[in-house]
Amino acid sequence: MSNYLENNIDVYGFLSNIYGMNVYDIDKPLQRFLQYFIGKVPSFSELGIFAGRDLLEITDYVDKVSRPRHIMWDINGNRVDRVWLNPVERWAIEKLVLDFGINKPPYHGGSWHEHYAMGFLVSDPGLYCIITITIQTAYALYKYGNDELRRYIPRLIGDERPINFGATWFTEVQGGSDLGANATIAKRDGDLWRLYGDKYFASGVGLADIALTSARPEGGRAGAKGLALFAVPRLNSKGDLNFIVRRLKEKSGTNSVPTGEVEFHGTEAYLIGDLSNGIYYIMEDLMVSRLANAIGAVGVARKAYLEAYEYANKRSAFGKLLIEHPLVIRDLMDMEVTIEGATALVFKAVNEFDKSWRDKPPYSEHYHYARLLTHIAKNVTADAAAYVTRLAMELHGGIGFLSEYPIERWHREALITPIWEGTSNIQALDMLEAMTKKNAHIAMLNDLENIVAEIKAYHNTAEAAMNVIRSTLQTATSLSPLEVEFRAKDILSLLGMQLP
Ligand SMILES: Cc1cc2nc3c(=O)[nH]c(=O)nc-3n(C[C@H](O)[C@H](O)[C@H](O)COP(=O)(O)OP(=O)(O)OC[C@H]3O[C@@H](n4cnc5c(N)ncnc54)[C@H](O)[C@@H]3O)c2cc1C
Repeated sequence: MSNYLENNIDVYGFLSNIYGMNVYDIDKPLQRFLQYFIGKVPSFSELGIFAGRDLLEITDYVDKVSRPRHIMWDINGNRVDRVWLNPVERWAIEKLVLDFGINKPPYHGGSWHEHYAMGFLVSDPGLYCIITITIQTAYALYKYGNDELRRYIPRLIGDERPINFGATWFTEVQGGSDLGANATIAKRDGDLWRLYGDKYFASGVGLADIALTSARPEGGRAGAKGLALFAVPRLNSKGDLNFIVRRLKEKSGTNSVPTGEVEFHGTEAYLIGDLSNGIYYIMEDLMVSRLANAIGAVGVARKAYLEAYEYANKRSAFGKLLIEHPLVIRDLMDMEVTIEGATALVFKAVNEFDKSWRDKPPYSEHYHYARLLTHIAKNVTADAAAYVTRLAMELHGGIGFLSEYPIERWHREALITPIWEGTSNIQALDMLEAMTKKNAHIAMLNDLENIVAEIKAYHNTAEAAMNVIRSTLQTATSLSPLEVEFRAKDILSLLGMQLP
């Protein structure tokens, strides 16, 4: 714990009971998952201190006191469309990217597990969103970009200074889930393309040096398969603004990332990969952010749980500490088990992604399996985050509801996780698609059968969970299309509850 009383300007220690904890060193389950999946426990101790101290305070301060501001004009009357971050938030992001190298591991012989483990420690959905949309941009450019576009990568992953930010802008006003309804048009202009249209939810506006965006090449087919993926630099080839930031949105959470609306008026754009594969590249990119969403969700839950645990050790009711009341013990145990189970599932999904992330369309069986696990993990972790953060509020009693303290923010932050990167309904529909069109559940069953066969302790429990998974999949594959769609989210949640 922090020694905040020694330093009377370290006020945040009065507001948070976990301020000053090394959130990595105390997290034995996280260390065990890493040991299991990558055979080592990385040295994230410094990040654990940073996350349990500076980041806790900075993200709460940004949310409550100092949200990003749209700077539309410079002092000389030029349109600039930049976003002014609190300088301490900017410092924290630069530290994460440059000093902790959060976006480097997969590109430097490390693993996605390490990237996501660092994301778990950061967890604040707004700040981690900035990191995630940047690594998503690097990912698409690395896999499908030409040499010119790949020149952005060193700055996106923190190998070179100054760092660059990426972004992923797909959603339009008429639909985010229904990407096929995208109306932004791309017109060819010599070697490049020009975009006309707008994006209704655009995180990272005013920060992004280069953004990925979806558009329909003029005359192209309707629906999602008619979309291509483009890279849009902030400045065009003449050095002028390449797109307009219409405004920033007012949000109930994720306030450390600016989210706005963007207009394209003949915006210069560079095609990524093949014209006809855009939707596949977008889905791939969403896999990176859905895993981030999943690990961020359990990271948020963990912070709220730690606050609740500490509070229960300090607050008394009916003559004894909260922690001594059986019902409180039961609540805390339930939170802990929920977080650990969901975190294990995310790392399993990350593990399969790590083995298959270099796959390209039409993809291997392994990649489809990783995608199936990602849908399941995205859904179950979002539910876990909402549940655990709500319970953390409740365990703080009336204090938990006050916006003066950090607890209610964790709940607000948790509530984005079932919405962005595809709602839970969309995860359920995508799960069905992965099962019916790609047979991804067969790969999952085979893998799980092997794992269960190796489990010695608690073998019967594992076998019982396996039976539920078998019968759930059997039901899913035997229902009529309408019935299976009606029950898709139940199936998704059931699988998510049994898998860990
Ligand atoms: C803070 C924030 C930041 C964001 N940042 C970005 C960003 O940077 N880039 C970006 O591209 N997007 C971004 N988004 C958009 C986000 O991804 C979408 O809001 C989300 O995917 C849902 O799409 P929608 O809002 O259009 O909802 P809709 O698609 O209109 O959905 C409304 C409801 O209908 C349900 N629904 C829709 N279709 C079906 C169906 N077929 N079956 C069953 N239910 C269905 C949904 O589950 C949902 O509950 C952001 C959103 C927020 C809130």
